[in-house]
Amino acid sequence: MSVITIERKILEKNDEVAGRNRALFAEHDLFVLNVVSSPGSGKTSILERTIEQLRGKVSLAVIEGDVQTDIDAQRVARLGVPAVQIVTRGGCHLEANLVHEALKNIELQNIRILIIENVGNLVCPANYDLGEAMKVVVISTTEGDDKPLKYPNMFCFASVLLINKIDLLPYVNCNIEQLRLNALSINPNLRVFETSCTTGVGIQTWCEWLLQHTTHPE
Ligand code: MG
Ligand code: ZN
Repeated sequence: MSVITIERKILEKNDEVAGRNRALFAEHDLFVLNVVSSPGSGKTSILERTIEQLRGKVSLAVIEGDVQTDIDAQRVARLGVPAVQIVTRGGCHLEANLVHEALKNIELQNIRILIIENVGNLVCPANYDLGEAMKVVVISTTEGDDKPLKYPNMFCFASVLLINKIDLLPYVNCNIEQLRLNALSINPNLRVFETSCTTGVGIQTWCEWLLQHTTHPE
């Protein structure tokens, strides 16, 4: 596991670098997810569950983006997958050049799926292409059903919505059907999955879809 801390430097155009990342991913036949959410919605737990579920079926690597600490990369590395931590030192989103740097620490030819966990933030990560094939937005039931309406950009640019912590539905003020409708009103093409990392519900369905999509992209 590697940790890299990056100083903000040359202001290269993000989209230009994202394009270079995308070409590199295509060259290595790599399917890349950019996972975004508010802090605490369960991105890293979903990654852990996904890694366990896909173990032996497909080779994975993870890039973790955090403002501080390498706690998340440690959690993922513990499961035996290559993991690189990007510490942004206060930066509230990942940029394509940070991902480009992190890629130097991964043997791309051995990997089929790369999961990038973005910094927990539903605002600016929507505006920074990292070169990924798709954005996956995670929202937990504890956040309420109106979140897609409050942060429409993120839901607009995402291809997949994971509604996480569904085991907590009896205890929280969240109407999951309303949440689903709100998200689809912003982006009717969203693929929606319901998951719980505590009970494991929905993880298999999500992983089967991911595996299928990796081999036969639409
Ligand atoms: Mg995390
Ligand atoms: Zn930001």
